[in-house]
Amino acid sequence: MKKVLVIEDNVETQNLLKKYLQHLYDLRIAPDLHSAWELIEKEDWDVILLDRGLPDGDGLEICAKLKRFNMDGKFPVIVLTASSELEEKIKGLTAGADDYVIKPFEPRELLTRIEVVLRRRNTPSSFQSTITLANIIVDLETHTASARVGENETVPLDLTPIEFKILLALIRNYGNREISRDTLISSVWDKVNLSMRNIDTHICHLRKKIARGNLQIKNKRNKGYYLKKDASAEVVPVATPVLPQQQLNAF
Ligand code: CA
Repeated sequence: MKKVLVIEDNVETQNLLKKYLQHLYDLRIAPDLHSAWELIEKEDWDVILLDRGLPDGDGLEICAKLKRFNMDGKFPVIVLTASSELEEKIKGLTAGADDYVIKPFEPRELLTRIEVVLRRRNTPSSFQSTITLANIIVDLETHTASARVGENETVPLDLTPIEFKILLALIRNYGNREISRDTLISSVWDKVNLSMRNIDTHICHLRKKIARGNLQIKNKRNKGYYLKKDASAEVVPVATPVLPQQQLNAF
């Protein structure tokens, strides 16, 4: 069952969406930006339905955040809004929303739009981009990583979105220098939840996961973090070279 996250504070709309979507999708409801972002960080979603007027801010902040963390391609967003103003529509689409539905909406119209977004998402793109470092393969398209554990065998690493961003930031810096916690935090971590202890926890989890792919996260005192390949990493040949810095920055 496809997973749909509804970010909506209005109980009537919540109930309407439940009525029409609950039997078709794995539906979860978040009533504000804060709880929504927690769910986005923790789990993958096939579609996000997003209300604009939420108790703790404008729903479009979610779009902005997804963009900031390079996650906008991963989570299609349909904005639900009471305004039919063209300017509002443009604002939503510029923020990175995939589609726009005006309230009150016909449930059938919403269903169709969800299906269109899902279909678009499942069409394989011709652009396939992976980075391999040691025996870790990072897929920039799907934002997933896997470890090569044998000649033709890989295992998924099940990284959380934040772990993925940390890994990508570390890979970008590979061979250059340590990356400071401050830099890591500002590039991958939501500034609202800024916390040194939290980033250490994420790094600790990530370190365990990528160890399967012979990649270590090292910590240089007062300097920051960097990646190091295990000596044994060379045992399994690596097919794809690391992309140059310039190309990486495009992501
Ligand atoms: Ca609302």
